[in-house]
Amino acid sequence: MKAPTCPICRRPLPTAPEAARFRPFCSRRCADVDLHRWLTGAYKVETDEAPGTDAADRDGER
Ligand SMILES: [Zn+2]
Repeated sequence: MKAPTCPICRRPLPTAPEAARFRPFCSRRCADVDLHRWLTGAYKVETDEAPGTDAADRDGER
């Protein structure tokens, strides 16, 4: 069987009981990194589309 690894740093998850709260990440740091990526990623998708389609529309009308 494969040992579970942290999706952020790819290291095997620590088996210490106090590390279990950060699952599926190995530490609070990696959990924070993932949360930050998710937030900025979701933010980007929304802000990226509005100006992109707006500029394209203006170009098409001219
Ligand atoms: Zn990690």
